[in-house]
Amino acid sequence: GVAWSIGMWQRELVRAAVRGGGAGSPRAASVAAASQLRRVLESQLEDIRGSGTWKNERVIASRQGPHLRLAAGGDGILNFCANNYLGLSSHPEVIRASVEALEKFGAGLSSVRFICGTQSIHKDLEEKIARFHQREDAILYASCFDANAGIFEALLTPEDAVLSDELNHASIIDGIRLCKANKYRYKHMDMEDLEAKLQDAQKHRLRLVATDGAFSMDGDIAPLREICQLAQKYDALVFIDECHATGFLGPNGRGTDELLGVMDKVTIINSTLGKALGGAAGGYTTGPKPLIDLLRQRSRPYLFSNSLPPAVVGCASKALHLLMESNAIAQSMAAKTQRFRSKMTAAGFTISGKDHPICPVMLGDARLAAVMAEDMLNRGIYVIGFSYPVVPKGKARIRVQISAVHSDEDIDRCVEAFTEVGRKHGALP
Ligand code: PLP
Repeated sequence: GVAWSIGMWQRELVRAAVRGGGAGSPRAASVAAASQLRRVLESQLEDIRGSGTWKNERVIASRQGPHLRLAAGGDGILNFCANNYLGLSSHPEVIRASVEALEKFGAGLSSVRFICGTQSIHKDLEEKIARFHQREDAILYASCFDANAGIFEALLTPEDAVLSDELNHASIIDGIRLCKANKYRYKHMDMEDLEAKLQDAQKHRLRLVATDGAFSMDGDIAPLREICQLAQKYDALVFIDECHATGFLGPNGRGTDELLGVMDKVTIINSTLGKALGGAAGGYTTGPKPLIDLLRQRSRPYLFSNSLPPAVVGCASKALHLLMESNAIAQSMAAKTQRFRSKMTAAGFTISGKDHPICPVMLGDARLAAVMAEDMLNRGIYVIGFSYPVVPKGKARIRVQISAVHSDEDIDRCVEAFTEVGRKHGALP
């Protein structure tokens, strides 16, 4: 592992220092720097452990799906914590399309797009994304994190303003940090606060309101109708991050803008290919053609990073094809979500958010969330507890995510296990 190789590297440095001379030599200095680095890192790691926010990674030994095998043992584990909302991560047609793209177009491009990294499949996928969202054009990135990191700096100048929901995803926050526009942070989904900030921002050239379409910690959906009305009143543009919406929200899975009837009022969409759309990787921006043209010229994560590998392009392209052929998968996920939410509420739990497959089971106490999640795994159900600082203090929860490929029996088993575990630990009477 990493610790072992750092140890080896340090011993090698010590040996080199002994060979190379005494104190004051360049080699002795590098040994001192390496030891100092180790101390600095270990103290930070200790702080993370001490604050109880250490994240362990469970190792999966099978494909992503509703039923998993864990490397540590345990077969047929029911998985309720993936963003695999439509179950396309292991869909046979998605896998076949990926293998075909790999064989025909190779492992990768070893190049950025503008040098020699653009293949016909990249152009086809961009065209398909734009058609799916009914926008003029689209541009691919290695991830949505990159799409968010690249858009604000390329689009906004010190003459402009960006107004961002305080609970927006980390990548939006980082993207905004990189740009030189005037920054306003409005209270979560608070339209009065947004309006006050829009009034103040009238003095700037462009105003861009940026929000997650659906917020992943609470499963709540941005009030896009109201945001678009305010944007119209104050002559602002609307940007949404649709990572937790693309493919399944709205009657045809187009996203939050379709769900809330404002497809023609949202100007820019960023989203991911790494969740509902096959789950491999990749992100994109879709919107007006001149914006996409500008991003191809100016957006740093696009200009200075390798093209998406063909196998990944193949997955996403097939996933979009399946969704454009039929809305049956998206609808099935909505029915499963409804089943879980209503059964859990009837059992006495509080589920945050509304009509979203992110179903946070609100527990309040951090220890209770951790112990219940562990006990759920003992019953073969994989869910994750979230507590401070990921969510506010006193608002610990277990976040359950529903997928179109969960069967009704899977969902009922999950509800039964929650009921047993909740009673055992005092979360239910
Ligand atoms: N935006 C939101 C709202 C997300 O939840 C995520 C992923 O966690 C991202 C952006 C980043 O997406 P990607 O995994 O494609 O980098």
